[in-house]
Amino acid sequence: MPHATARTKLSASRRIVVKIGTRVLVQRNGRPDTRRMAQLVKGLAALRHEGRDIIVVSSGAIACGLQALGMKKRPTDLPTLQMAAAVGQSRLMAAYDRLFTQKKCQIGQVLLTHDDLEHRRRHLNARNNILKLLDYGVIPIVNENDAVSVDEIKFGDNDALASRTAMLVEADLLVLLTTVSGFHRRDARGRRRKINYLPGVDAETLSHATDKGSDFSTGGMASKLTSAAEAARMGTTVVIANGRSDDILQKIMTGAHVGTLMTPIAPLNGNGVLNRRRRWVAFFHHAKGHLTVDPGACVALLNNGGSLLPVGIRDVTGDFLPGDLVDIQDSDGRLIARGLSEYSSVEIRLLKGLKTASIRDRLGPTAPDELIHRDNLVLTP
Ligand code: GLU
Repeated sequence: MPHATARTKLSASRRIVVKIGTRVLVQRNGRPDTRRMAQLVKGLAALRHEGRDIIVVSSGAIACGLQALGMKKRPTDLPTLQMAAAVGQSRLMAAYDRLFTQKKCQIGQVLLTHDDLEHRRRHLNARNNILKLLDYGVIPIVNENDAVSVDEIKFGDNDALASRTAMLVEADLLVLLTTVSGFHRRDARGRRRKINYLPGVDAETLSHATDKGSDFSTGGMASKLTSAAEAARMGTTVVIANGRSDDILQKIMTGAHVGTLMTPIAPLNGNGVLNRRRRWVAFFHHAKGHLTVDPGACVALLNNGGSLLPVGIRDVTGDFLPGDLVDIQDSDGRLIARGLSEYSSVEIRLLKGLKTASIRDRLGPTAPDELIHRDNLVLTP
């Protein structure tokens, strides 16, 4: 679909996730920008009153906490960040509550860690909770549960959290609001030009994303592009736009050429459209180890829709248990797939290179043939 047509179709979006970055909500001196917040809430409330499902993923907890505690710079140690988040999250929500109440909207706080979405039952719980809130016309305000998050269970930044949230509830549209007018590319003479439409994200695209987070925030354009591409691959349209521009949401919804648009990216060969379970496999896990496979196994996985068998394994890295997620790479170290292992790393070290028939001789008659069954395997770009 040409992107001008895609723009005009944005008005039909029924379920929208809007991510608001710290730099949008907080002034340079670290104080929350209540005028800006009020502007955004006005736009969000208007979309809600049109009958759309609205989910907000809001950063700003740590920045609000730092300001309340009189800290001028973002600390680097985790306990202080957790403390700031605990202080700031309630302030952030209080500000949203006051503004949304004025606009006759109800909000609900949903705090998530990566860990919550990795475990299947908690993943489904989180989804059900958000869907229930939407059903009641409530606007869920999602943030990472920074007060208890440690590195191993972190999403990393709220761009990743927003794309996961969009996948979790199958949003039609994800809007990533930042403080620039979209993704900019440098031309041969070094001039930066805003890109209206981005068909996909590769290493060359990422090389143009040179900004970093600020004193108060993490993220930056590279994390937005990566998260946008992941959401687009799962069928969500994405717009990266300037949250400091007035009425930005209404401009997006009416098809104005603001920000950078990404339309859904066709699924990878062999993946088909990922069902909910395989999305969970692909996007909601930290890998616990990786398997290096030989060229024959690569062909079986990439072209023939096969499962991963012990005979194709060259090497095993990491310590993992059955049910853990592992990355699969070719012999040049390129990631080709990920999936849930039927076996532990210790068992795979024993089985590596063996023909299927020998597995049962070693591990007994009920041992599965595959190391990773096709249903639990997702090809990666
Ligand atoms: N969750 C963090 C906060 O509320 C923000 C993380 C990010 O900026 O991506 O402060």
